[in-house]
Amino acid sequence: MGLDRACEQARDFTEYFPASSACGGAAHLHQIFGSIGTNEVFAFLSKKGSPSTAAPLSSCSPPPPSLKPKPPPHARAAMAALSAKTIQNAFLAQHHPRTRHGTRYPSDFCSLKTRGMHSFQECRLTVADSSAKWLNTTSTPWTSFNKQAISYNAAQGGSVVSSSEKVDFLKLQNGSDIRGVAVAGVEGEPVNLTEPATEAIAAAFAAWLLNKKEADGLRRLRISVGHDSRISAHKLQNAVTHGITAAGHDILQFGLASTPAMFNSTLTEDERNHLPVDGAIMITASHLPYNRNGLKFFTSDGGLNKADIKDILERASKIYEESAHGKLKEWEDASRGVVNSVDYMSIYASDLVQAVRKSAGDKDKPLEGLHIVVDAGNGAGGFFVDKVLKPLGAVTTGSQFLEPDGLFPNHIPNPEDKTAMKAITQAVLDNKADLGIIFDTDVDRSAAVDSSGRELNRNRLIALMAAIVLEEHPGTTVVTDSVTSDGLTVFIENKLGGKHHRFKRGYKNVIDEAIRLNSIGEESHLAMETSGHGALKENHWLDDGAYLMVKLLNKLAAARTLGSSIGSKVLTDLVEGLEEAAVTVEIRLKIDQNHADLKGGPFRDYGEAVLRHLENAIGKDPNLHKAPKNYEGVRVSGYGGWFLLRLSLHDPVLPLNIEAPSNDDAIKLGLAVLAAVNEFSALDVTALNKFVQQ
Ligand SMILES: [Zn+2]
Repeated sequence: MGLDRACEQARDFTEYFPASSACGGAAHLHQIFGSIGTNEVFAFLSKKGSPSTAAPLSSCSPPPPSLKPKPPPHARAAMAALSAKTIQNAFLAQHHPRTRHGTRYPSDFCSLKTRGMHSFQECRLTVADSSAKWLNTTSTPWTSFNKQAISYNAAQGGSVVSSSEKVDFLKLQNGSDIRGVAVAGVEGEPVNLTEPATEAIAAAFAAWLLNKKEADGLRRLRISVGHDSRISAHKLQNAVTHGITAAGHDILQFGLASTPAMFNSTLTEDERNHLPVDGAIMITASHLPYNRNGLKFFTSDGGLNKADIKDILERASKIYEESAHGKLKEWEDASRGVVNSVDYMSIYASDLVQAVRKSAGDKDKPLEGLHIVVDAGNGAGGFFVDKVLKPLGAVTTGSQFLEPDGLFPNHIPNPEDKTAMKAITQAVLDNKADLGIIFDTDVDRSAAVDSSGRELNRNRLIALMAAIVLEEHPGTTVVTDSVTSDGLTVFIENKLGGKHHRFKRGYKNVIDEAIRLNSIGEESHLAMETSGHGALKENHWLDDGAYLMVKLLNKLAAARTLGSSIGSKVLTDLVEGLEEAAVTVEIRLKIDQNHADLKGGPFRDYGEAVLRHLENAIGKDPNLHKAPKNYEGVRVSGYGGWFLLRLSLHDPVLPLNIEAPSNDDAIKLGLAVLAAVNEFSALDVTALNKFVQQ
């Protein structure tokens, strides 16, 4: 831990305090770094020249309760561990400039006069750690893009560039996303999504996009960038901006945004606001812990696929390597891209408002009199209250965790998380609200709660959306992931008269399958995963949690116009008849990749061998029946329920889902799986053993 981390954290935390709170940053850091005196923290921050903390501490009043950070225990422990050393090192650096490679760095080098990338490079160079390793981590290969930086490097004898840290770019791929660790402090999780790596990835995206657009004769691209509430958001936004502009393309910064809004910016026609853009970059790691972050990319064709991401990461690796060896073209200042800020979330939200008004017969306030509470989990979904619900006339008192806080102090913003669902359910009951809405961090997923406190998520939310979509498109096919219940199939096919196509896990797989079905003449209008990712054909097959909720609002508004229903009963009635299992279990069986049984081979081969063996064993049991159509793993019905054992998309894990009418039946299904997989000694069946012995 060194000064660069302290600089970043000071900046990250102060970014999240309103300008009116002159002392907010110092107070916040003091709380996070609990063991350090407030005066020391303040002195450190004012050295950094952070404008929001530059007032003398004597003028500070305690921060108002709303500003008090409540980091979750894991975050607090991690922060506490790094706190003392961070501040100590910061002071050492300020007062004892070191000599390295014959160069003396001035002690005031670290004052952050600008928020640009280079201030951070300079900041890093003052660190009071004498190990050669530290110098490696401080270097950035991107300095060759900037004349000022080049001359600066020349003065250092070029050692900074050539000693850049190795980055394994392909390891940053997570399906069709990029994910990594962006904040230090969690043991065993070193930072791999660094700013230089992020710059290289952004530049690689621009190069990839330019390749695609070459046919249109485009040479200069316009790319939007937005982020969720994570504490590393601003530094990565700066890195993306630098990567894109240094490559000669223009950037539109949206600030706090939702993932679907970023895609939308490739479609919005609004020349005054420089829209549409050629491509969009969202900085998010969805519901993952606070130290992670990632990137998602969009063009007007939608999100990029796995092969595109691999291509971009390979390009990024090359760009990173070449810049480290000074091989990249030096850009003239005149050819650098332009940076503009646009309040895009207002544009996007007003489209959602128009959609609801239109479906309610152009009524200005179609939700008047309805009480709707929102839980944004301190992610990016808070806009839904002020920019969507209030203009439509809804009462929103009791909405919670709307303010962005990248430490997620209240609960994980995830509609699949039990604590999160409990929080919104409680808010609905406490406020006697008609409906509750919850979003994940970047608002590509959502769930609802009806006025009685009944959760409308997972299978129920798919059933509800299917009911709405099948009213509009009778007989259409609903594509879902593989872990949906048998009850959902019966509901869609027997009650709604639609067709249920149960495909694979992974929202991108589900959406792509729906697009494929349409392309071969099978009409589909809804693709939805139990995680809460749902995409409609009418909305460009975009998985937008806010748009899903707009579909529910349309129903409420229509019912209100007819005066036929009160509150959310119209929604509850739509899922009437959905059969639900009494027992629902997910057990994860891990594969030990170092086990001799794998004979050094890939875990995927081993996992597939387990599945093949299970499939054979099932064939011999008269109580169990393989699902006639199945696209992932082994799915079996029996004892009034079903189970699915499949191989995880990315990890050495075989998740087992069981649903049954009683615990005894669930155990019978569990025993059938256990009997078949027991002989695979690299498979950890502890959790399954525990379940069947209860
Ligand atoms: Zn998400």
